[in-house]
Amino acid sequence: MKSQARKSGSRFYELYCIACGRRVREEESTTRCPSCRSPLDVRFDYDYIHSRLNRYSLRNSPIKAMKYLDFYPIENLNLVVSLDEGGTPLYRCRRLGETTGFSRLYIKNEGANPTGVFKDRGSMVELSKAKEHGAKAICVASTGNMAASVAAYASIAMLPCYVLVPEGTAIGKMAQALSYGARLLQIRGTYNDAFRLTEEMSERYHFYLAGDYAFRVEGQKSQAFEIIEQLDWQVPAVVIVPMGFGTNIAALWKGFKEFYDMGLTDRLPRLIGVQPEGCSPIVAAFNQGQEKITPVERPDTICSAVAAGDPLDGPKALRAIRESGGCALSMSDGEILEAQQLLARLESIFVEPAGALPIAALQPLLATARVQADEVVVCLATGNGLKDPRSALRVLPSPAAIEPSIQEVDKFLKLKLYEIRAAGAKNGDRNLFTEVPSKGALSELVNTEFGIRLTPDYAQRALGLVEDFVNKGKPVTKADLQYILETTLKRASGEGVLKVEDFQVTTTLHGQAQAKVWVSFDGERLESSGAGVGPVDAVISALKAAASSRGRIFFELIDYQVAINAPGTDASVETTLVLKDAKGNRIVATGTSPDIIVASVQAFVDGYNLLWARQQS
Ligand SMILES: *Cc1c(COP(=O)(O)O)cnc(C)c1O
Ligand SMILES: [Zn+2]
Repeated sequence: MKSQARKSGSRFYELYCIACGRRVREEESTTRCPSCRSPLDVRFDYDYIHSRLNRYSLRNSPIKAMKYLDFYPIENLNLVVSLDEGGTPLYRCRRLGETTGFSRLYIKNEGANPTGVFKDRGSMVELSKAKEHGAKAICVASTGNMAASVAAYASIAMLPCYVLVPEGTAIGKMAQALSYGARLLQIRGTYNDAFRLTEEMSERYHFYLAGDYAFRVEGQKSQAFEIIEQLDWQVPAVVIVPMGFGTNIAALWKGFKEFYDMGLTDRLPRLIGVQPEGCSPIVAAFNQGQEKITPVERPDTICSAVAAGDPLDGPKALRAIRESGGCALSMSDGEILEAQQLLARLESIFVEPAGALPIAALQPLLATARVQADEVVVCLATGNGLKDPRSALRVLPSPAAIEPSIQEVDKFLKLKLYEIRAAGAKNGDRNLFTEVPSKGALSELVNTEFGIRLTPDYAQRALGLVEDFVNKGKPVTKADLQYILETTLKRASGEGVLKVEDFQVTTTLHGQAQAKVWVSFDGERLESSGAGVGPVDAVISALKAAASSRGRIFFELIDYQVAINAPGTDASVETTLVLKDAKGNRIVATGTSPDIIVASVQAFVDGYNLLWARQQS
């Protein structure tokens, strides 16, 4: 073991407070200054690092985070916890460059890390330090990505990991953290509430506190090292970075400075920080020339990964931007989602919304001459899009569903249904009409708004759904019309055997809901009733009773999901039912309406009819 220890006796680095300058012993704290609660930073004995640096290996060994081990404040190399992070690709993006007006544009794809985000680089150092400190358990607050990353590293370090996230965190990130074995707790509050609570938990239970602290910065420096190496030991003019807590941009700046100070490079880049408009406290402080960050009470943005309202590393981030001669700007959610799509279409890099912030900033930066068209520009694509697919689906149409026949494929291609344009995040709430339009007018509108031509048959079916909306007294917005179209394109063609004429539900606070339905099977009328825990259940159970009393087909309802399309009181809902018959045929059916019961009935009827048609064929 001894041979693996570095500089025995005296340490080759120390922790100090960035505000009051106090030197802090690791035994006292590895997170915040015991005197003034400000963030800490690591100061190295660079002569020591320099004397040990193996330049041959630095220039010739393959690129990955572990190759820069000499630059990390790790003392016992036997305890390093690594998942082979880093070594992520740096792409030369010609098509995106042409579109945005930059001739030398690069993207560092940090989504290629083990858990899909750059935080793995920091978790490697942080969990190695936790092992050195003899930690018995880890705790961490997160908007999701930190949770997944720290949980993964805690798992291979064989340490229990307590994770606190704001309620409603992106499902992919929670699934990741839970799978790695995290003890996950959702907090009814913001990220900052979760953050405060983990600090208390760590003191009370002596858990090792992980998160955006000094050791994480050390690990995340390697992004800068790799960019330099991948540009053949050249330093880019500009690096554009999404900012949340501000830790990562500080880490990049530290990395670029270290290579510069060691004489490995001869210049420094300008760092540009980007935040979403719904949470941009660092940008605001920069633009107002202030040192102090004014917290955002209730962050409101699609970029959940950067929704940190009170970023403690804001001062470090401001310093990085100012010292480097860069700037800061914020972008709207609509622009960010557009950039996310652009990046995926032109360069096949799928990022979560926060990862698209630098791409969104390209055009305004060029337009205001803060970056020149021929400068070498590197954008950090910070996180993988698979972590939060729902946000991307907001601006993507749900694909049409067809019967498995080549005629249906012909129709799909002839009508160019794949060209349906989504309402997007920008103008989805625009009202299109409040009264039922004529069939011709509806087709016209669909063509201008969504870029597809409906057949008379499809137009007729869409009109039926439009009537349902209008009769409920709801103005039809662009987003509503999108869901109507999608539902139309997924529904059974032609008349089905089952039709619902009407239904009636009663429900009370303390009892079960009761429902009656009037349906027809093949023209034969029938009344049936059912009960359930809620109105939807009751109606579905009445419909099931009607269906089975006819004994036509046996089926099971195996899944039922409701999605609210856009938040708000008059939002429309989309229901999805999955039915399965005795032969194992599975049918997915959807319905959409401002009324959840109506949407469920639509889905049920459609599913039943599809299953019926399937069994006849
Ligand atoms: C954490 C994170 C950020 C922001 O990094 P900070 O260090 O909090 O500024 C940006 N993008 C993604 C995907 C992240 O997970
Ligand atoms: Zn201090």
